[in-house]
Amino acid sequence: MEEIVAGDSVSIAPGIVRITAPNPGVMTGPGTNTYIVGQRELVVIDPGPDIGSHIDTLRAAVGERLKWILCTHTHLDHSPAARALKDATGAQIAGRIASQDGRQDAAFAPDRILNDGDTVRADALTLRAVHTPGHASNHLCYLLEERRMLFTGDHVMQGSTVVISPPDGDMQAYFASLEKLLALDLAALVPGHGRVIERPHDEVRRLVVHRLKREQKVHDALTRKNPATLDELVRLAYDDVSERLHPVARRSLHAHLIKLANEGRASETVSGWVPR
Ligand SMILES: [Zn+2]
Repeated sequence: MEEIVAGDSVSIAPGIVRITAPNPGVMTGPGTNTYIVGQRELVVIDPGPDIGSHIDTLRAAVGERLKWILCTHTHLDHSPAARALKDATGAQIAGRIASQDGRQDAAFAPDRILNDGDTVRADALTLRAVHTPGHASNHLCYLLEERRMLFTGDHVMQGSTVVISPPDGDMQAYFASLEKLLALDLAALVPGHGRVIERPHDEVRRLVVHRLKREQKVHDALTRKNPATLDELVRLAYDDVSERLHPVARRSLHAHLIKLANEGRASETVSGWVPR
């Protein structure tokens, strides 16, 4: 399996180049993937973090041909480079705004707000926005219609689990947005972190099963330790996950509990979370 190296231009399909930003980490895997789509006219999907060397690499790659800068969402590893890239190229920025929760790129200023189903065109290519809230309320996937390739941002990642951080992150919405992908005719998933995923529907079904298993584990833990705090629950329900990751897992745990509460299967009391 090819290793992902930050700054390398990798052709993942004719007319589609991946350049990974130098921001590897627990949340970002090998780094954030920026994609450049097209030939005469170009579209950038997720310009990435505001890191000078990454922006320089993108500028050199797109030259004078950049028409659109599309952002899947506005977490700090996905959209902040949009401004500098727009200033350098005159391209237009498109995406959606999220309410501030301390994790958003506050400077994000799209020229065009995209709604579910809206399309952006460059040359003969069509990119269709698919609203997929869950990881972030403003999350969009982009379907390259002519190739049936779906750019998934952080809705589906390769090699790491997507974190759902309430209140902007919403587990119920995440499940619904995974189901939404099953209704699309897809050839591949092209994630914001990691490598291209073949057999898209198999992967989406695997993710749904994984989340349902975790949800059951959360509910079981809640039944055993009743009432329980988030810190107690994370040790029980994420005992298969490295303790180093528990502060992050705690956020997805909270998202699971909110979903269970909304479904009448748990509730938060003064002494902690209890099962229903
Ligand atoms: Zn994100």
